[in-house]
This record gives sequence, structure tokens and C-alpha cells, in this order.
Amino acid sequence: SIMSADLSPTEIGDYLIKEEVGKGAFSTVYRAVHKETGEQFAIKVIKKSAINVDAKTQKRYKTEVEILRSVNHPHIISLKDLYNTKDRLYLVMEFVNGGELFDKIVDKGSYSEKDAATVVFKVLDAIQYLHHKNIAHRDLKPENLLLKSSDDTHVMLSDFGLSRILGEESMMSTACGTPYYVAPEVVKAVSYTKEVDMWSIGVITYFLLAGFPPFMGEKLTDIVEQILEADFSFPSPYWDDVSDAAKDFVSKLLVIDPRARFSAEQALNHPWLALEKASDKPLK
Ligand code: ADP
Ligand code: MG
Repeated sequence: SIMSADLSPTEIGDYLIKEEVGKGAFSTVYRAVHKETGEQFAIKVIKKSAINVDAKTQKRYKTEVEILRSVNHPHIISLKDLYNTKDRLYLVMEFVNGGELFDKIVDKGSYSEKDAATVVFKVLDAIQYLHHKNIAHRDLKPENLLLKSSDDTHVMLSDFGLSRILGEESMMSTACGTPYYVAPEVVKAVSYTKEVDMWSIGVITYFLLAGFPPFMGEKLTDIVEQILEADFSFPSPYWDDVSDAAKDFVSKLLVIDPRARFSAEQALNHPWLALEKASDKPLK
């Protein structure tokens, strides 16, 4: 009935659903406990009434979930299980309890250059891994970067792959069908998804170092205009103590032409991350 569909779920499959830990546009995330092992998980519950799940999308779940399940990286929150009921979709994921990177940046004001580099290195490592698998995140932002623990730099990519499961009909049809009839902007959208992630990493890096985003404005149209022209600067006094290497790093990502924008490989090889790369190797 309508009533039961609206009540908070208490269990699904092998998991007991506990308190709510977060909310997104179309979903609620709960802490959950595995009935047998007692291990903690996060379960994202998506109400189907809130999204437009057509027959074609339904059919795609299976293959897409296999892709999501194949993801295994220390800085990516992976999908452990999926339940698909009449009313809801349940995504069972690794549980993290450090909150959102966004809140941490706001709390701290901004990150030190060293800590920012540590965070950005981990995000890039995860993104390079995904891009090698031909998967783009498409929704990278500090709200979707979660901290595994109270450690300010132990960042994990979340909210990943949902767009692959739920949306972008045009992209999927191009990838799966014949391209004879496809308009140029659709073709472009397909080939430029990875570059979209790299732009986002540029914005995140800027935000970490400054404590405010590169593109701001009273009105949405102001922000869009700035983005279209990559119109940003490093205003004093906020950026005075930040190295030229960090500014150069940001400038190589916030590039209008996606083909000229740094790839994950290029970014990982940038001098700003050189120290970070060296320190990431385990000491023996
Ligand atoms: P949406 O797709 O709806 O934006 P998110 O994956 O971003 O959903 O999750 C919404 C919120 O739920 C996050 O910002 C976070 O606070 C919480 N959350 C999501 N995944 C986890 C997780 N694996 N562990 C703990 N909390 C989580
Ligand atoms: Mg989110």
C-alpha cells in the first residue's frame, strides 16, 4: 500500500537497517548491520516513486551493478550488495563515519597545502583507477567525498556510479546502439565524461586551499558565466601563502577545452603532488 511504501524500512535481505545517516536528492542513507556477522554497512535506499525508472532502466540494473561490483580501490566506497524491490532500490555499501569532506573544509576554514595535497592525491588515485576502467564518476564534489574516520585526509569517493545506474539515457543508447543518428553534442558528451571529473578535481582543490569555491555569485547565471569562461583568480590575502605549484596545478585543471585539460595521469605527475607521491610509498 501507499502507507507501507512510505514507512522507513527496518530490514532488507541479510541486513538490519538502523538510523538514518544522510539524505540525498532521491535517496536516504542508513547505517545497517549484517544479521550474521554484525559488520556495519551503509544502505542507500532509493524510492522508485521519486525517480523515473522505466523498463529500459530496470533492465540495465543488472549489467551496471556488475560493473559497480568490480570496483575495488582503497579510496572508493564500493557496492557490496543490491536489492531491487517493487518500491525501492537498496544499495549496500561500506560504512564510513568521518562525515563529508565539505563539512570538514567549512569547519577548518581551509586545508593546509600538505593536507590538501594528500586528499587530492587520494582522489586522483581513485579517479585514475576508474578512468582506466572506462568509468567516470560525473558527480565529484566535496559532499560526495566522505571521510573514513576522524583523520581529515582519509577520503573516500562515494555516490559513485549512481548516474550510471539511473540516468543519462542518451549516453547509454550511444554506447549500446548504432551511432548513425547521434548528434555531435551527444557524441561529445560520451567522449568527455572523464574530463568532467578532472574539472571537478580542479574545483575541489581550489576549495580545499581557499575555503571558498573558484566560481561564485549571487545568481546562478553569474556562476555559469564564470564557469563558461573559466573566469577565476587567486585573490589576496587567501592565496598569499599558497605555493605557485599549487596554483599551477589548479590552473591545469580549470581549463575550458576538455582536450587541453590535465588527465588523471598528468595531474598525478604534476610537481605539486611529487612530495605526496613519495610519502605515499610504505616505509620499510
Ligand atoms: P545522494 O546520491 O543521494 O547524493 P550520497 O551517496 O551522496 O547520496 O549520500 C548522501 C549522504 O549520506 C552523504 O553525504 C553521507 O552523509 C551519507 N552517506 C553516504 N554514503 C555513506 C557511507 N558509505 N557511509 C556513511 N555515510 C554515508
Ligand atoms: Mg551525494
